[in-house]
Amino acid sequence: MTLEEARRRINELRDLIRYHNYRYYVLDAPEISDAEYDRLLRELKELEERFPELKSPDSPTEQVGAKPLEATFRPIRHPSRMYSLDNAFTLEEVRAFEERIERALGRKGPFVYTVEHKVDGLSVNLYYEEGVLVWGATRGDGETGEEVTQNLLTIPTIPRRLKGVPERLEVRGEVYMPIEAFLRLNEELEEKGEKIFKNPRNAAAGSLRQKDPRITARRGLRATFYALGLGLEESGLKTQLDLLRWLREKGFPVEHGFARAEGAEGVERIYQGWLKERRSLPFEADGVVVKLDELSLWRELGYTARAPRFAIAYKFPAEEKETRLLEVVFQVGRTGRVTPVGILEPVFIEGSEVSRVTLHNESYIEELDVRIGDWVLVHKAGGVIPEVQRVLKEKRTGEERPIRWPETCPECGHRLVKEGKVHRCPNPLCPAKRFEAIRHYASRKAMDIGGLGEKLIEKLLEKGLVKDVADLYRLKEEDLVGLERMGKKSAGNLLRQIEESRSRGLERLLYALGLPGVGEVLARNLAAHFGTMDRLLEATLEELLQVEEVGELTARGIYETLQDPAFRDLVRRLKEAGVEMEAKERGEEALKGLTFVITGELSRPREEVKALLRRLGAKVTDSVSRKTSYLVVGEAPGSKLEKARALGVPTLTEEELYRLIEERTGKRQETFAS
Ligand code: AMP
Ligand code: ZN
Repeated sequence: MTLEEARRRINELRDLIRYHNYRYYVLDAPEISDAEYDRLLRELKELEERFPELKSPDSPTEQVGAKPLEATFRPIRHPSRMYSLDNAFTLEEVRAFEERIERALGRKGPFVYTVEHKVDGLSVNLYYEEGVLVWGATRGDGETGEEVTQNLLTIPTIPRRLKGVPERLEVRGEVYMPIEAFLRLNEELEEKGEKIFKNPRNAAAGSLRQKDPRITARRGLRATFYALGLGLEESGLKTQLDLLRWLREKGFPVEHGFARAEGAEGVERIYQGWLKERRSLPFEADGVVVKLDELSLWRELGYTARAPRFAIAYKFPAEEKETRLLEVVFQVGRTGRVTPVGILEPVFIEGSEVSRVTLHNESYIEELDVRIGDWVLVHKAGGVIPEVQRVLKEKRTGEERPIRWPETCPECGHRLVKEGKVHRCPNPLCPAKRFEAIRHYASRKAMDIGGLGEKLIEKLLEKGLVKDVADLYRLKEEDLVGLERMGKKSAGNLLRQIEESRSRGLERLLYALGLPGVGEVLARNLAAHFGTMDRLLEATLEELLQVEEVGELTARGIYETLQDPAFRDLVRRLKEAGVEMEAKERGEEALKGLTFVITGELSRPREEVKALLRRLGAKVTDSVSRKTSYLVVGEAPGSKLEKARALGVPTLTEEELYRLIEERTGKRQETFAS
């Protein structure tokens, strides 16, 4: 490559990267995947290294993020600069990182590192004066960020006041959206025909940068902290590990999990272990962050224009494949909503074959501008869910066809209706709706009837044994035995689960019945507001509008369903079958789905804490495994802590645990003390 060619390519890359920075950091709407972005940045870096005369301080390789849009939030200058991190993708590159350190310090390794999960969210800076939170801001371009104090304060774990800290203190960490909250948010947006978020990071960024903090408050954001700006010197801390412990002691949530390692090889062992476990983490992690443990070495090494020299992000592989969209089929859900599903020429991504991908809704298709026959770039979001990254428009031949929405229901032939961007089958007898209604009713977050699988539901509908969910409660052993190779024992199990489902309470029942627009959040609000099904059935439109988060359209939809004689009849039959129609104490299910392990001594008897956790729906076990959601760490913890660190299981102090409970139940934990 000649100098002239290099100059041209470098300019092209810089423009391209600046554009994508803007899409990613300012608009929260990236067009390309992180992996593609990393490739561009890397190519630019390599070219600038080969042709140092072309280096420039305004190159994206020398800069952090992008300048915020000043229109929305007040710009704020960080008292001390915020940096990004350089990336490594292979063990070789981690070794090269260690060698650079050796050369710079004039001393042989291996060095000791702290390894932390790289939580994929957005970084924030909290500024405290004399222990009082003054403001909080996003990173922005590292010098200037956006003030988002009000929105940050909706995250209950962020401390407002601190004791025994330097007079001026900056605390840095990541605001993120747990995967569960992310999936739930997208489901709600999908149902409303709105634009969905591409990944938890964008969802977190979009939610934190809302004009209305009340919207932020609903999104279930969390925060975890890992660094200091101003105040680091005064703190007198010696290592990163101490720093993390110090943060925790001062009341900051440190939820992201960390471990210690020696040398590049030690880092590699932890990285490989965490890579395997990444799917069981409650948040999305895009790699690990490796930091020299010894803080005195940080001062010696310093920073480049963009990133520290004493730390590196060791990224997880993000496989993406090109394939073709062969056709689009349409599925009808329990609410009658029609969802487009893309059929792909099968490709192997991160260990499994991908041949179908959801195209969510009409807004999504418009935004993506995807057509049948297009080449698309597909990846697995969070390493799990196949997702189209983008359309490779440069590969279009002109043969591609636009996606056409059907006029009639693919399952029952009834004419579809269109409400805004949502296509729906209005036929109450549509078999797809029946099937989905039962499946949804039995699902884990609804009535939790685990033994009722899809095949079985199909069979039950086919044989006419059930027509709707109330019929489930009339099933007898002889109906079930023989269906789907079912024996006496599994039939008995299923019947017991159906029995148990009667006592889930109003909140779960309302979610299970799939009232239009009612997800988990609205179900909870409705149950809390009305208390009983009878009260809800009598609700007027005005009363429905009083319920938290119920808007005009949703209220109307719910009201119409409540007045529908078919719905009332279904409720009557469920009641006759003994299904509970009263709201439970709100705390009862607050920790459902989480598994806790406790180590060390707590401020009250361990059995009491265990009982509390169980009462809130959590599981408590005795040993740490990759299924553990959190390890609760008391005084003088045992070997469980080591194990948790090795597996990357997040830990909580006792106080953090109580805050988590408070956040989930909306009550101070003292109210739960027995
Ligand atoms: P990048 O997003 O490529 O600039 O990567 C650097 C960013 O990773 C930092 O600015 C942080 O926002 C984020 N990050 C996530 N987890 C950690 C962690 N444990 N330590 C340091 N940075 C982290
Ligand atoms: Zn239909």
